[in-house]
Amino acid sequence: METNVPGVYAVTGYSKSYIIDGDQGVVLIDTGIPKRHGAIIEVLSRIGRSPANVRAIAITHSHADHVGGAAALKLESKAPLFASGADAPAIRGEAPTVPPPVFDRMPFLKPLSRFIPGAEPITVDHLVGETEPSALPADLRVIDTPGHTPGHVSYLLDRNNGVLFVGDAAVATKKGVVKRGVFNAPTPSIDASLRHLAEFDFDVAFFAHSVSLSGSAAAAFRRFAARLG
Ligand SMILES: [Zn+2]
Repeated sequence: METNVPGVYAVTGYSKSYIIDGDQGVVLIDTGIPKRHGAIIEVLSRIGRSPANVRAIAITHSHADHVGGAAALKLESKAPLFASGADAPAIRGEAPTVPPPVFDRMPFLKPLSRFIPGAEPITVDHLVGETEPSALPADLRVIDTPGHTPGHVSYLLDRNNGVLFVGDAAVATKKGVVKRGVFNAPTPSIDASLRHLAEFDFDVAFFAHSVSLSGSAAAAFRRFAARLG
């Protein structure tokens, strides 16, 4: 639950969600799969917070293992939901969710997605994008990282020399190596997003489907970007 960044907590499950506790309240980064939002509420209560303290629910992308708990958490917290314009239609239930690129590469994995129940459609209150003014807390910046989905975004927290919430744009190995992740593919947009992340400064990186990186995490992204050429 605790991470090496004060006030940042990881909620583990099929995918990891994160809780950022700050002076101005709590921000959730992603919400896990449907019907498992209780795990987030449990961590909130362990740190002396409740859904009432949540001031924003920031979503990286439309996949059900990230947006699955959002409807229930929004209902309990009354907090606004933030997501990108390109992924918002899928989150609202107005368009089908774009599956992860891995299904093009390895179609035999497709049946796996049936094990994740679909997310309930939900209102997106604020659209986020790198160049758009944001109603998120001032210390949380949006970075456009399209590729895994058309509107995937990552979030950069201005704390402890920079804390990046990568979402599904990449993964890290236990040896501290950044990789695209099995659910991604070497598409131009995914690689461009990884090069883009390497332009920022951050000491720590938290991922949805891997271990985290700490201590010049940005350098690991730069090593990956350098290999791409
Ligand atoms: Zn995903």
